[in-house]
Amino acid sequence: MQYVEHVADLVGHTPLVKLNHVVPTGPDSPLVLAKVEYFNPGGSVKDRIAERMIIAAEESGELKPGGTIVEPTSGNTGIGLAIVAQQRGYHCIFVCPDKVSVAKQDALRAYGAEVVVCPAAVEPEHPESYYSVSDRLARETEGGWKPNQYANPANPASHVASTGPEIWEQTAGRVTHFVAGVGTGGTISGTGSYLKDVSHGRVQIIGADPLGSVYSGGDGRPYLVEGVGEDFWPSTYDRDICDRIVAVSDGDSFHMARRMGREEALLVGGSCGMATVAAARVAEDLGPDDVVVVLLPDGGRGYLSTVFNDQWMQSYGFLRADSSEYTVGDVL
Ligand code: PMP
Repeated sequence: MQYVEHVADLVGHTPLVKLNHVVPTGPDSPLVLAKVEYFNPGGSVKDRIAERMIIAAEESGELKPGGTIVEPTSGNTGIGLAIVAQQRGYHCIFVCPDKVSVAKQDALRAYGAEVVVCPAAVEPEHPESYYSVSDRLARETEGGWKPNQYANPANPASHVASTGPEIWEQTAGRVTHFVAGVGTGGTISGTGSYLKDVSHGRVQIIGADPLGSVYSGGDGRPYLVEGVGEDFWPSTYDRDICDRIVAVSDGDSFHMARRMGREEALLVGGSCGMATVAAARVAEDLGPDDVVVVLLPDGGRGYLSTVFNDQWMQSYGFLRADSSEYTVGDVL
């Protein structure tokens, strides 16, 4: 018989899939491979950090048997934490701002987590902000522990231990370029440092960032792509890791996410579109001996009412009115 003891045992070991249409594919083009993280049991790359953050907190004694995990998260990190928490006997409370869709709140509850909703329209210092409420709940709940993915060294460490070695082994050491979006920076910093070390500095690391975010020199102005870009510098991001940062507009990111579904049969999220645009731009300058790996953090199901909805796209001007024709940008 072939089975695992718990679904959490399936975290990691995601496949590499060749991109055949949305990147340059001529005889002189590089091989571009997507690391498809929606194959994780919680549907995203964040399952990896959840597991490692929880185990590290058990080892340090911060998380006690039967304890409660309290984190301000509305999405992928919450699902990952909820899955690992179930396996290891913890309770979860997730705090999210009220702008988070009801569908996302329901998904967290479906995994048995408690969801506390806070007003989004207040300053972070306000006692009702979701930062303040999560701090208070972590403090006041018996056995409470806050993972804090933006400052937890187990976040990048999980990628040193898993994502990096997987890519190296799957490409038989032939990877030359690694492309990933930057949110907490855990993925690019951990995977990047492993690939730099193992290749003696040969692998080039390319960060993809929403236009306006601080990582690509912006002032943190709003953008719509979810899960990437910041208006501050988290300690989980190694500022020296990237050889190059590519800034990508919302329109280009979403258009590419839609192309991924139609042309590569990969239904993926907006930040995957963003990373793929960056990979396509990098690939333009490379040759047939190069191997580019682009990490796709999550699937597209969570974005059906936004990125994959024509009316939503039209309302932001990314599609022409009453059509699915793209309006702006310079996607290949
Ligand atoms: N895309 C999505 C959809 C995410 O949820 C995240 C995590 N915030 C990222 C990209 C970026 O990953 P990281 O936090 O490791 O930089």
